[in-house]
Amino acid sequence: EITMPRPDHPRILCVANQKGGVGKTTTTVNLAVALALHGNRVLVVDLDPQGNASTGLNVPHHAGVPDVYDCLIDNIPLAEVAQAVEGIPNLWCVPATIDLAGAEIELVSVVARESRLARALAAHPETFDYVFIDCPPSLGLLTVNALVAAQEVLIPIQCEYYALEGLNQLINNINLVRQHLNPALDVSTILLTMYDRRTRLADAVEQDVRNHFGAKVLEAVIPRNVRVSEAPSYGQSVMTYDPGSRGATSYFEAALELAMRGVNTGGTA
Ligand code: ADP
Ligand code: MG
Repeated sequence: EITMPRPDHPRILCVANQKGGVGKTTTTVNLAVALALHGNRVLVVDLDPQGNASTGLNVPHHAGVPDVYDCLIDNIPLAEVAQAVEGIPNLWCVPATIDLAGAEIELVSVVARESRLARALAAHPETFDYVFIDCPPSLGLLTVNALVAAQEVLIPIQCEYYALEGLNQLINNINLVRQHLNPALDVSTILLTMYDRRTRLADAVEQDVRNHFGAKVLEAVIPRNVRVSEAPSYGQSVMTYDPGSRGATSYFEAALELAMRGVNTGGTA
């Protein structure tokens, strides 16, 4: 039995990258499950109208189910919309339904539009060790809400040629949020995803990312692994679908590293 240290304060991580298909949702789901299976209390907030994190955790999110939209727009407490994830003790999910698709526009005219999620989380009576916010592939008001609510940003980077190019815009937005709305926000963690060992390109991209982001980059790298992509269609994370797969063991290593860092640094600066 491996012990996964619990943080001494709740850690709220925004999983962001405005590029689609880089592994945000897969990372959110698998890190959340890995940490929960090892005794951490974990909440996943699905902030993507596509609801992929809700699907991946097998949490009902059809039209009419209370969801994160109700929290953001109608001030419904998180406790009323969070659902326990079946089969994984200590894991909860605030789902996203199709309603969330309208939120990006509706938020524009709402009071304190950038800090709706922060307020909803702050008002939540129960404490979690980790909150993961799965962002949509855009830099609109939903992602801004996630950046304002979080202390840490976790950026998954797919090991492909243009990996670093799109990140400038995200980093600019993070800097703006830091200046105006959330001074303590820290890009604490970079995770390399969908790494293909057979290509020289993946190796070159890894070196680039490590040179650029230094110690923020987790040592653990997530390989491209078919078991990872199969798991969601069974309503499972790869951690439970195929615990022995390289996808699962890599996500476990990444979760452990994330947890160890939280303890060693006493949080983030
Ligand atoms: P995002 O949330 O950034 O849009 P996803 O997490 O949904 O990205 O991943 C995009 C696609 O790639 C999904 O179909 C997912 O199953 C697949 N995928 C993600 N990570 C891996 C991996 N390590 N190996 C194989 N397929 C993966
Ligand atoms: Mg996604």
